[in-house]
Amino acid sequence: MTMTKIDMEEILALHYPNTRTLLHYNNPFELLIAVILSAQCTDAMVNRVTPDLFKAYPNAEALAHADLDNLEELVRRTGFYKNKAKNIKATASMLVKKYKSKVPRELEELTSLPGVGRKTANVVRGHIWDEPGIIVDTHFGRVMRRLGFTDATDPIKVEQDIQQIIPKERWLRLSMTANYHGRDLCKSRRPLCEQCFLQEVCPSREL
Ligand code: SF4
Repeated sequence: MTMTKIDMEEILALHYPNTRTLLHYNNPFELLIAVILSAQCTDAMVNRVTPDLFKAYPNAEALAHADLDNLEELVRRTGFYKNKAKNIKATASMLVKKYKSKVPRELEELTSLPGVGRKTANVVRGHIWDEPGIIVDTHFGRVMRRLGFTDATDPIKVEQDIQQIIPKERWLRLSMTANYHGRDLCKSRRPLCEQCFLQEVCPSREL
């Protein structure tokens, strides 16, 4: 069966209709902090930690002045907690000093914040402002390689390859659906190809 990459994107979208992040948030500040905390951690664990965190530090001003020991304790369960506590405090300080306590919208501004890379910036831009962006994390990169969208491992190259194939307005959708597919079926060690709805067209299927 011949199928274009655009067709594959549509099939992924049909199977994963929810294209929102699983992280809980009420405003751009909370989303930004939650995404920083989600590095090397499950969304479910971040969602367990953030209610108490945002109760203690509900905005950038409060977080910028947080006691570091207390902050470490609050984010400990997300792993790498010393670094994460340091980064979210420093990010909050920069929001206060440079951006009037608001989360900036531009990619370059976001990626200048401590602990914020292109992945985090694109999650925030996509979910808050519907800005087109490709969110390359480990799941997304793996699924895109297995399905033949790219053979790159460098995240920037992966982004560029996808940008050539998929129209802008679908970038965020594909970012989320491929991510969910990677968590759900196209798992890292043993992909569940026998259950996969793309097995007929996937060049990497293992049946
Ligand atoms: S057939 Fe297997 S390798 Fe291909 S997308 Fe599905 S789970 Fe992944």
